Amino acid sequence: MTKKNTAKPQQVDGVLIIGGGYAGLHAAAAVQHAGIPVTVVDRTGRHDYVTRLAAVAGGTGTLDDASSPVRSFVDRVIEGTVAKVQDGSATLEDGRILQAEAVIVTAGSSSSRPPIEGIGNAHALRSAEDAIKLRSLIAGANSLVIIGGGATGVQLAGAVAIAHPSICVHLIEGSARLLGAMPPELGAGAQRILTGRNVNVYLGSNVDEITESGAVRKGGLLEGIVVWAGGSEALGQQFGLPAAENGRILLDPTLRVEGYKRTFAAGDTALHRRIDGEPLPMSAQIAVRAGAAAGQNAVRLLKGEEPESVDLRQLGWVLDLGGRRGLAQVGSLNLSQGGVDLIPPLLHEVIDLMGLIETGGFTALRFASSSAKSLIPFRLPEWPFGQTATRCS
Ligand SMILES: Cc1cc2nc3c(=O)[nH]c(=O)nc-3n(C[C@H](O)[C@H](O)[C@H](O)COP(=O)(O)OP(=O)(O)OC[C@H]3O[C@@H](n4cnc5c(N)ncnc54)[C@H](O)[C@@H]3O)c2cc1C
Repeated sequence: MTKKNTAKPQQVDGVLIIGGGYAGLHAAAAVQHAGIPVTVVDRTGRHDYVTRLAAVAGGTGTLDDASSPVRSFVDRVIEGTVAKVQDGSATLEDGRILQAEAVIVTAGSSSSRPPIEGIGNAHALRSAEDAIKLRSLIAGANSLVIIGGGATGVQLAGAVAIAHPSICVHLIEGSARLLGAMPPELGAGAQRILTGRNVNVYLGSNVDEITESGAVRKGGLLEGIVVWAGGSEALGQQFGLPAAENGRILLDPTLRVEGYKRTFAAGDTALHRRIDGEPLPMSAQIAVRAGAAAGQNAVRLLKGEEPESVDLRQLGWVLDLGGRRGLAQVGSLNLSQGGVDLIPPLLHEVIDLMGLIETGGFTALRFASSSAKSLIPFRLPEWPFGQTATRCS
């Protein structure tokens, strides 16, 4: 028999946000901007710079690039893990119940665990904690096997090939190209940069088993530390909220949880759709814009107004592959060919700096990444631009 929770609910003023990631901090900024109190509950109390974690794990970024305290961005922070969400309240794993006038769920996603034999032997790269652990494992390794050629796998392979030229890097992707959620030009650009760094890219290749010494595929065993970068899933069902199969929470057009009055969701944790109903990918850009929109709609609700429909779309992609090279597509502008591929890492820094200012004001610039700091004063990239000689015997 499950024990009844007899804890007295604790009322927090204004809006309660679950998760201090990209969506959570942008939601908090929108609420604070309206002069309404906001509390963020986060399981680690730290804001992870998730789009920089591949650089941290791979060794092209520094440990300082991994995360900063949520308290540097929001005054009221509660460290705790939410287990259940009800309309207008959240229950923590330790039994505490937090109640608010509105709740915004922005708990992100975690690495998926598909039914591959030995999946428990694979490392994940989804949090600052994962990145720091992988960083030291990779530094002592001879060979690395990355499964999944999306943003995480491609950026990790690129960073390791630059920072550790002696490590043999294998990147395995089940479909016919890299970066399947992005335009084909970006996939082709990633393939060009990675093969230029001697990364072994295997397309249309599936892993049958993961052992303690590597990954088994049709061609045999690829030895090395294995990182699973093949997908993410959200916590919707665990929270007790209506959710799709992969755990992403179902929403109405105002980003309110389906059937709920005072509870919104945004970012990876939510199933965002374009206005034509097409599901949107999990991305930092969507998390930032959805978080801000959910914050604004929570403010409307608290003022007695009707929340408004939100028009979300993926405006483009910017990826940093380390070695001052990257890939970007913004509208019809494609920056993934050789020569112009120097621009995306700079764009990535500008976007990160803007995000810091929007959520924490100019004082938050002290958390700028190590590579952004190295741009001030701007230094020309060194020649040769990220040439490496990764070798596999
Ligand atoms: C390695 C890597 C590289 C990526 N690179 C790119 C990229 O270049 N471009 C791009 O657009 N996207 C990229 N992505 C995807 C992007 O980072 C995510 O879409 C984005 O982080 C989603 O933001 P979010 O706020 O929804 O979640 P997150 O940023 O993950 O934040 C979720 C927060 O919720 C907290 N939390 C989780 N569960 C609980 C709980 N139960 N209770 C309380 N708190 C909780 C976590 O501690 C965390 O602080 C990358 C992802 C990875 C893993």
